[in-house]
Amino acid sequence: MTFELSEDHEVFRKVVRDFAEREVAPHVARWDRERHFPVNVVRAMGDLGLFGLVVPEQYGGSAGSDSAGGDFTSLCVAIEELGRVDQSIGITLEAGVGLGINPILTFGTDEQKQQWLPDLVAGRALAGFGLTEAEAGSDAGATRTRATLDGGMWSIDGAKAFITNSGTEITSLVTVTARTGAESDGGSRERSPAEISSIIVPAGTPGFTVEPAYEKLGWHISDTHGLSFDDCRVPEANLLGRRGDGFRQFLAVLDDGRIAIAALAVGLAQACLDLSVRYAGERQTFGLAIGARQAVAFSLSDLAVSVEAARLLTYKAAWLKDAGRPAAAIKQAAAIAKLYSTEAAVAATRVATQVFGGNGFMEEYPVARFYRDAKILEIGEGTSEVQRMLIARGLGLPVQ
Ligand SMILES: Cc1cc2nc3c(=O)[nH]c(=O)nc-3n(C[C@H](O)[C@H](O)[C@H](O)COP(=O)(O)OP(=O)(O)OC[C@H]3O[C@@H](n4cnc5c(N)ncnc54)[C@H](O)[C@@H]3O)c2cc1C
Repeated sequence: MTFELSEDHEVFRKVVRDFAEREVAPHVARWDRERHFPVNVVRAMGDLGLFGLVVPEQYGGSAGSDSAGGDFTSLCVAIEELGRVDQSIGITLEAGVGLGINPILTFGTDEQKQQWLPDLVAGRALAGFGLTEAEAGSDAGATRTRATLDGGMWSIDGAKAFITNSGTEITSLVTVTARTGAESDGGSRERSPAEISSIIVPAGTPGFTVEPAYEKLGWHISDTHGLSFDDCRVPEANLLGRRGDGFRQFLAVLDDGRIAIAALAVGLAQACLDLSVRYAGERQTFGLAIGARQAVAFSLSDLAVSVEAARLLTYKAAWLKDAGRPAAAIKQAAAIAKLYSTEAAVAATRVATQVFGGNGFMEEYPVARFYRDAKILEIGEGTSEVQRMLIARGLGLPVQ
């Protein structure tokens, strides 16, 4: 048993940390204020190879290559390190790989991979995954978007909500889930389970509208839009994998995504700890550093414990994936890591803003941005309640 990352992983961590400190940290407060999506940083992340860590060399990635080969653990390291500086930049990578690249890499034909992956891996393009709808979030099987075949083309009608990376100037496609079964099921999954399929919709396809960006509580730098489809026509060959496999596909995609979101949460919790320890050593009240008071010091001790536990759960789940362990074991570990790490991250921001006092409420201190950014971690890619549901099912409980 070893609890250390490999030397290659540690070298890689330093590379990403230096990149984040140099290219992201100095600008991030302004970008956050201006809701600016920095395309040049996405390109630079592509140059660094961050989008290709789980992609084979033939599509421009480094997975499994002999020299400095990437793996899922490396991706988690990169997301953690970016997330330590800014959550929006971290989620741009996480969603770019987990929701943009991964579905095509895992379920696409060779032609689809050749067409889309090289630009996505290079950071010249981004892709999104449109699963959620206004009436279908946790209950994603309730999707109402419909695609019907008509003369060798899919005609798509419906709307998606909250889709990450879907409206940037370099977004090349969104993979959307849609009902492709007969109309006769009348929308009732009780009577007839919906046939759901995933379909690749290239950006700019007529009938595909990217709605204005949302006004969000946090993740101001990240790109999030509603999408609508009105007789949006794409070739039949844009079907991803087999017809009717959409449900199975997004469940698999989300298992990986949950480990990556856990890594994003670890980055945030670590940042809160680092910033708070430094501040507690410097800030004086009543003639002593506030870190000399047990009330403050012990809250940071507890925070250190939760950061350590979150990191261990996250990298254990990543290790299970890299080691090719059974899907059920990865699913359970992913849900446990996501649940624990994201709740720990939200708690960490509460501790950090408290340690910073009034300054913690001011935008000039990063802990204020982390406080706003943390909440979505407990919601996106499956809420905490959904994780508890999955874990209970993994325990064999017949939970609904
Ligand atoms: C910034 C942002 C980015 C996002 N990016 C994407 C993206 O790229 N692609 C995408 O497809 N989606 C995306 N989402 C959507 C996100 O995954 C969903 O918001 C999330 O899954 C929750 O779905 P919902 O909002 O419909 O909430 P609901 O499903 O309506 O849940 C509301 C509340 O009820 C609880 N609940 C629901 N059902 C149960 C149950 N059976 N038992 C117990 N509690 C339950 C939930 O846990 C939650 O607390 C994004 C969301 C945001 C805010």
